[in-house]
This record gives sequence, structure tokens and C-alpha cells, in this order.
Amino acid sequence: MALYAELHRHLGGSVVPRVLWRYFQRHSEDMVSRFNDYSTFEEFYTKPRNTLDEYLELHTLVESVQTVETLPYFIYRLLRGAYIFENLAYLELRYTPYLRTPEHLSQSERIDKMREIVEVVGKASQIPEYPIVTSQILCMHARLPYEVNKAIVDLAAENKNFVCGVDVAGGDSYYAERLEEWIQLYNYALSLGVKTTGHLYETTAGCYPELLPCLMRIGHGIQVPLLHPELLPELAQRGQCLEVCPTTYIKTGTLEDIRQLKTVFDRCFEAGVDIAICTDNAGLHNVRLPFEYENLLTYDIINFQQLQACQDAAFKHAFAWPYGQRPASLLNGILNTPPVLVPTP
Ligand SMILES: [Zn+2]
Repeated sequence: MALYAELHRHLGGSVVPRVLWRYFQRHSEDMVSRFNDYSTFEEFYTKPRNTLDEYLELHTLVESVQTVETLPYFIYRLLRGAYIFENLAYLELRYTPYLRTPEHLSQSERIDKMREIVEVVGKASQIPEYPIVTSQILCMHARLPYEVNKAIVDLAAENKNFVCGVDVAGGDSYYAERLEEWIQLYNYALSLGVKTTGHLYETTAGCYPELLPCLMRIGHGIQVPLLHPELLPELAQRGQCLEVCPTTYIKTGTLEDIRQLKTVFDRCFEAGVDIAICTDNAGLHNVRLPFEYENLLTYDIINFQQLQACQDAAFKHAFAWPYGQRPASLLNGILNTPPVLVPTP
């Protein structure tokens, strides 16, 4: 059995529609009453949106129910599904901890509460019956003030047992007005030994070459090969990896046809830029990681050899996978070591 690494999954978008519906049935009659039945809800939850903004709006629905009390409920179901249906050996889970704190508190109180959220997510992710190596990526957010984003970086640096890196999310068209601030925050993170990724070059409005040198991996980054292939040699030289999430671009209206990704893969392979294939929001999309792989094969976007190269890249660029190689090589090691025979008395 092949085991996989998932590098780009949002905690908010990871709740599959069935689990969210069951939660509403148990805890929120008000939400249930807004829909005729489960299938109406599923259709609303998973349908494609016209823009990235509209799509991100949906995250607030899940964020509102993911509180310090309910996070273990959702994380247990997420890990169970990832282990049973997706064969994940490694998972980086990302979210903005500030958005999981109670809204009625003051900014400084909410900042203080973030530590508890990180701990709750970290502990809830350790489930003996569904063993997956997990770590958290804390997302700075385009719409949050500098003080909150800096506190998110500090929190990442202080909790390296649970957190492996920082990201920026919230819509890549909004970074322009505070570009210097983002560069400063990323350099601050790097100075504290925190690993970096960022939602960038996802849409045509999110291309900021100034931010690229701050990132170890690029969240999406598909507009680099599509619109700015001249930048690919720099990416290869820095050893940066793109986190490509195929279903997202259809759901956000960024691409019209998934086959447009062939150019992304072809140009990256040619330039020696690694790609990790990811789900982004497996729950919202109702598409799990093995199906992302299969879709790319079905549409002839990549072949099996290229798929394996991408699966290798996911482990190679994982921020908190301690073994260097994929689990298969560990299993091969076990297979090639003769079992120790216990001498009979
Ligand atoms: Zn994302």
C-alpha cells in the first residue's frame, strides 16, 4: 500500500459535508432548517464559486463552529477519514488560530487564547488508532492587522512541537497594499527558525515576485508557470516546491478546465521545480487526495512516473517529516531485513 503526504489542507475546508451536516443535526437546528434535506446542503456546500473571494466566504461557515470545545470532534473525524480513505502517513494542517477564538473578546485576549487553540489541535491530532504524523501550519491572514499576524509568527516559533511553519491566506489579491509588512513578517519568521509557505501566484491578481524569496514552498503558485515561466529557474535554484491543488482552481473559477494544469506540470518538470499535489479543502470539494492523483492521470495531465515524482516531492518538502524518504523505503528496509529467529530451548 502506498502511503501519502498531504502538505496543503485547511482545517476549515477539511470537514466533509456529511460530517458537518451531522454536526448541525446534533447541535444547530437553525442551520438544518435552512436546507430542505442533506442533498440540498451538500449541493450548496460543494458547488463551484465564481471567484476566490466567494469561495473563501464559505470558510467562515465552518470557522464559526470550530471552537476550542468542538475542534477535537472535527479533528478526530478528519484524521479517521485521512487514515482510512486517503492512506495518509503525513499531514500538515493549516488554519488561522485567531479565527477560532471567541469574537466577543478583545484583540489582545483573542491573541492570548490562540495558544490554547494550537494545543487543542495538536493534542486532538494524536489518535493512537489512526496514526498519522501531523503538524500545524499557522496562517497569517490578509485581513488581520499586523499585531495579530506577528503574534501568529511568535506562536509558531514558541510551539515547534505542534507547529512546523507559517503561511499567509485570505485572498492573494489583498497583499499589495501591505507588501512590505508581509516581507518583514516572513523574514521575522525565518529569523526565528520557522518554515515558510504562502498562498501566492494562485490567481492572476496574486503575483508578487518580491515575496518569493521569503518562501520555502509556494501555496498554489500556478501562475508562475502559466504567466511568468521566466521565474521558474529561480524557483528551481532556491529548491522551492509548488503546492498544486487541482480541484481548487475549478471551484474558485481560476481555471476553466483542469487540463490547463498540463502546462503547469510540463513547465515545472522541465525547469526542475518540484510539485506536491494537495487537496487544499478536501471537505469542501468532497475530493480526497487519491482522487486528485487519479484525476490528473485520467485527464492525461501527468503520467504515473510523474505522479510518483510528485508524491516523492511531498515527503521531500514536508516541513516535519523526519525521515527524508517516503514510507515505502522504510517498508523496503523492513522487507529486506531477515526476521530475528528466536532460538528454541
Ligand atoms: Zn489553501
